[in-house]
Amino acid sequence: MTQYKIPMSSPDLTDADRQAVIEVINTPNLSMGKWTPAFEKTFCDLTGAKHAISVNSGTAGLHLCVRAAGIGAGDLVITTPFSFVASSNALLFENAIPVFVDIDPKTGNINPELVADAARNIEKFLPRKGADKSGKLKAILPVDVFGQPADMDAINAVAKEHGLKVIEDSCEALGATYKGKQAGTLGDFGVFAFYPNKQITTGEGGVIITSDDQSAHFMRALRNQGRAPGDTWLQHTHLGYNYRIDEMSAAMGASQMTRLDEILTKRNQVAAWYEARLSEIPGVETPYIESFTTRMSWFVYVIRFDKRINRDEMAKKLDARGIPVRPYFLPIHLQPYMVERFGYKEGDFPVTEDLGQRGLAIPFSGIMTEDQVDYVSNIIREEVVKA
Ligand SMILES: *Cc1c(COP(=O)(O)O)cnc(C)c1O
Repeated sequence: MTQYKIPMSSPDLTDADRQAVIEVINTPNLSMGKWTPAFEKTFCDLTGAKHAISVNSGTAGLHLCVRAAGIGAGDLVITTPFSFVASSNALLFENAIPVFVDIDPKTGNINPELVADAARNIEKFLPRKGADKSGKLKAILPVDVFGQPADMDAINAVAKEHGLKVIEDSCEALGATYKGKQAGTLGDFGVFAFYPNKQITTGEGGVIITSDDQSAHFMRALRNQGRAPGDTWLQHTHLGYNYRIDEMSAAMGASQMTRLDEILTKRNQVAAWYEARLSEIPGVETPYIESFTTRMSWFVYVIRFDKRINRDEMAKKLDARGIPVRPYFLPIHLQPYMVERFGYKEGDFPVTEDLGQRGLAIPFSGIMTEDQVDYVSNIIREEVVKA
C-alpha cells in the first residue's frame, strides 16, 4: 500500500473539542442528555431555523425529511445523479422514485431549467423501468454540491408553481450562503452531515433544520423509536428508528460549532492556495464559484482534467507518488443497484457522466499548510506536464 505523505482529509479538532468528549464520558449521561439540545441550538443560532433535530448520520436526516414530507411508495422526487448516493437512497428507503435531471456543467449542481422541464413533463423524465407513470410528483431534492448551494431561488419557484416540497441536501455545505442566506434554510427542510471528512465532525452525525412545527415534532418522534410526546419508554405512537446522536458526538459537535467561522475561513484559505497554483496549469480546471454563492463552504477540492488527460491514469500516478486522490462523483445512476432497478445506461445524463469522468478530489482540509499545498500542486503540475 502507498504511504501517503498528506491525508485525503483531516478533522480540525482542538483540545477543547477533545475535552468536551472527556467531560461527557465522566458522567453517566451518554445519550439523551443536555448536549443533544445544546448542539441543536447552535444550528438554530447559525441559520435562524426554528427547529434543529440532531440524528446519527446525514443519511438518517435525509430519511426523516422524506418521511416528514409525506413521500411514500411510488411517489416521484426530482433530484440529481451527481451526488453522494445517500441523497437518492433516502428516497429508495421509502420506495419513492428518484427522477434524475442533469446538472450545470460549471458547478455540478442540479440544472434548474431541467428541474422546471421535469416538473412540467415528468413522464418524459422517468427511468426506463421501475417507475409507475401514475406516481405522484411530490418534491425536489437538490444537493449543495462540494459546498456550493444549488440555485435555490429557481428551484423554489418551480416547487411553488407545482406545489412541491423542497428537501435541501446541505450535507456538504454547512455555513455556505446563497445570496446571503444560509444553506439548509432555503427549502422546507435542510440536512447537514458530520462524517470526519466534513467541515465539522462528530464521528458520525447529522442535523435537520426546518421551520415547520409539525414536521419537527414528527421527526423528533421518529428519531426516538417513534415515541411521541407523552409516550413512555415502551410506547410507540409511530413506526420509528433509533436515529439518535449520542452525547459524546453532540458535545464534540457543539464545541466545533463555536469555531465554525474559523474552520470555514481556514478551508477557504487552503482552497485559495490551490486555486493560485493549479489554475495556471494547462489542462487543469479549478472549481467554479457562482456569483450567487456569497460564501463557499469548501467540502472537498475537486479539479477537472481536460479531455486529453486520462483521469484514472492520472489518479494512479498521483497515488504512486504518495498523493491520495478520489474520483468525485461516480454518477448515482450508473451504480450497479440503480442500473438493475431502473435500467439506466451510459449516456443518460451526459453532463453528470462527463464531470464524473474528469473530476478528481485532491487532499484537502483546513489544517493543511501552504507548504503541503505547494507539495501537492507541484506533483500535479509535473504529472500533467508529462501526460
Ligand atoms: C456526506 C453526505 C451525506 C450524508 O452522509 P452520512 O455519511 O450519512 O452522514 C448526504 N448527502 C451528501 C451529498 C453527502 O455528501
